[in-house]
Amino acid sequence: MSQVMNPATGEVVAEVAATSLAETDAAISRAAVAYERWRHVAPGDRGRLLRRFAAVVDAHLEELAQLEVRNSGHTVGNARWEAGNVRDVLDYYAGAPERLTGRQIPVPGGLDVTFHEPLGVVGVIVPWNFPMPIAAWGFAPALAAGNTVVLKPAELTPLTALRLAELALAAGLPEDVFTVLPGAGSVVGERFVTHPAVRKVCFTGSTEVGTRIMAGCADQVKRVTLELGGKSANLVFADADLERAAATAPYAVFDNAGQDCCARSRILVQRPAYDRFLELLEPAVRGFRVEDPARETAEMGPLISAGHRDRVAGYVDGAMVAFTGSRPDGPGFWHAPTVLLADTPADRHWRDEIFGPVVSVLPFDDEADAVRLANDTEYGLSGSIWTRDVGRALRVARAVESGNLSVNSHSSVRYWTPFGGMKRSGLGRELGPDALHAFTDVKNVFIATEE
Ligand code: NAD
Repeated sequence: MSQVMNPATGEVVAEVAATSLAETDAAISRAAVAYERWRHVAPGDRGRLLRRFAAVVDAHLEELAQLEVRNSGHTVGNARWEAGNVRDVLDYYAGAPERLTGRQIPVPGGLDVTFHEPLGVVGVIVPWNFPMPIAAWGFAPALAAGNTVVLKPAELTPLTALRLAELALAAGLPEDVFTVLPGAGSVVGERFVTHPAVRKVCFTGSTEVGTRIMAGCADQVKRVTLELGGKSANLVFADADLERAAATAPYAVFDNAGQDCCARSRILVQRPAYDRFLELLEPAVRGFRVEDPARETAEMGPLISAGHRDRVAGYVDGAMVAFTGSRPDGPGFWHAPTVLLADTPADRHWRDEIFGPVVSVLPFDDEADAVRLANDTEYGLSGSIWTRDVGRALRVARAVESGNLSVNSHSSVRYWTPFGGMKRSGLGRELGPDALHAFTDVKNVFIATEE
């Protein structure tokens, strides 16, 4: 049994049994048997079941959101969006089974057609920072394409995934088509990598673990999608709408207490606008509402655990603090929003993914300097560009080595557009029209027509 805590209070909210290796093997075997039936469910029926699953999630949206507030410390506003995102991703991919069409390619002497075949059992490994959406980005397209799914939530945040599995059954999905296995990464997660019946691993988490998973999957040439860390840049040019850039910058990094792989945790400001930008940023940071995440007004809650809070605090010790926001006193794993001034791009807080409410600021000289500094990282997940010059916006967007960029905005995620990282931020893309194909293999069939 492992204890699940409320990060806002430190109280135990549930005890969850960790799945053993033998139980993991048994669940994978059942999922492999269920696959033989699920892949042959008529496309229209598979779509209908997924739409029903989406409707059941929608009917339980508030319950799921409240569960996430208690288990993960997410603000209730965010948690509602996250549960709604599960519904939307299911709805979106529910339209896929009937549209999973192949091609007919002209060849002499016969007919050549392609099929998108499902892979088999797909293992989805989820981190603690967005337990619901990241689970759905894996299981919804995987199921739509005809695979069965075994899913391991993070040790700290299993509750919403377990509830989603119950809701899937309530919606009519057959037994063993979607199984949630809470437990240790070193037991359940690693078994997804080593078990031959698991034909693909869809991993979201740290670059360190993701790198090991990719190496492990190589042994069986197992398909893998990786969504890993980030250290994304928010580039503010002197010609930008500085008021808007400064007012929105805290949301781009402190949302979810900075525990967001897309957090714009490096702010680069063109030198002539540097002082003015910091002047505008200060009230926005001081006004950021850090409070009990169950309150409707909360903009930021606690960090996930005491250990993580201490790790984040370690980056602030000894660094040059420009200003900070507030945090509640009392129990819970709180850390105030913090703005650090970087001396050089070699600073530890400028280079490492902190994964907390800490942002570093550095000035730059010109466009080339901005691009060079933005790309001076092993990561490449997201980023923002603030300028009124449309030509520059496009040049910089093309030059920054990142999978998801936004201009005069900080948006990264829409369920109908692709999401994923370049460099060591990941491999493959989730969401959008193409993600489905990452859960299939193309088969080419030639049929001779000559007598
Ligand atoms: P983590 O890598 O420690 O754990 C992620 C998951 O992997 C957990 O479920 C864990 O139990 C499991 N795991 C751990 N060791 C394993 C092993 N040896 N084999 C198989 N599974 C194993 O990451 P975390 O601390 O939970 O999450 C934070 C990280 O996730 C950050 O680096 C963040 O940037 C990244 N992240 C990336 C994205 C993205 O889409 N790119 C999204 C969210 C989070």
